[in-house]
Amino acid sequence: MSRDSAEHICDVQGCTDKAERSISGKKVEMTDLALKSEGIRQDHLCKTHYREFKKETKGTIPDYMG
Ligand SMILES: [Zn+2]
Repeated sequence: MSRDSAEHICDVQGCTDKAERSISGKKVEMTDLALKSEGIRQDHLCKTHYREFKKETKGTIPDYMG
């Protein structure tokens, strides 16, 4: 992952922000976030949507898994 220096754009529908985090697609599908396309192994989330993701998964997914 550290070799991947390419910039990613947030994978949430309608969002064009720069992605800050990449999350397992399965976990993102567990939330209400609407993705541009489903079934992606690794989704990229901007700061805002990552915060939403964290809120929705609070208490259900430990941090170390992300
Ligand atoms: Zn976003």
